[in-house]
Amino acid sequence: MVNAKARCYTSPVPETPAVTPLPPAEIVQRLDALYGVPPWRATHDPMTELVLTLLSQNTSDRNSGRAFIRLRERYPTWEQVLAADVKDVEDAIAIGGLAPTKAPRLKALLVEVAARRNGFNLSNLEDMPLEEAKAWLRELPGVGPKTAACVLMFALGRPALPVDTHVHRVAQRLGLIPPKMPPEQAHGVLEALVPPELTYAFHIALIKHGRRLCDARRPQCGDCPLLDGCPEGRRRLTG
Ligand code: SF4
Repeated sequence: MVNAKARCYTSPVPETPAVTPLPPAEIVQRLDALYGVPPWRATHDPMTELVLTLLSQNTSDRNSGRAFIRLRERYPTWEQVLAADVKDVEDAIAIGGLAPTKAPRLKALLVEVAARRNGFNLSNLEDMPLEEAKAWLRELPGVGPKTAACVLMFALGRPALPVDTHVHRVAQRLGLIPPKMPPEQAHGVLEALVPPELTYAFHIALIKHGRRLCDARRPQCGDCPLLDGCPEGRRRLTG
């Protein structure tokens, strides 16, 4: 005779196995195979990169690039920007948007760099210990962790990792950082996870992925080469 307890017994519903996040090197390898990730190559000197990054805050690369070109056409040297009236600088960079905020910020930045470096040569950042170099930049007006990391990585090839909106979103979905961790905090956490020699490739790969497959609203998880190691992708496709 089957007792009541036995009749009421039901086997537990099998849980979806936890997804182990992929290591950064594997992520880079798979995304490199999909998009191609060029090797690092300096495109600007650190001062130029600093100004470009400042102009790019809260605007598209296209518009900030145009603003930068107009600025350089009007003022070929940083000394000339420093000496210019802030309203004229605002006019020069108007095409990039937020010029009334960015022009005084740029002027304040140039004043501070000139005072600290007696000019605009930032070669001091090449060999400075990384954390010191970040702190040096972050003491400048208008410079946060992303701008500091952009200068160090793009201009100098140093292993500082800028966390923009794409890097932040994709890293969260991949389970590399906790869901609610703000970007400011994510810089240090991701930087510690990614091998220094892969910092640039990781940054570029996640940006490309965020712009193409891992869209903010409609990620195409079914076509994603990271799906087997992506908690968010698995949740979306099975949930
Ligand atoms: S599986 Fe989906 S959520 Fe995960 S990285 Fe790929 S596209 Fe983004």
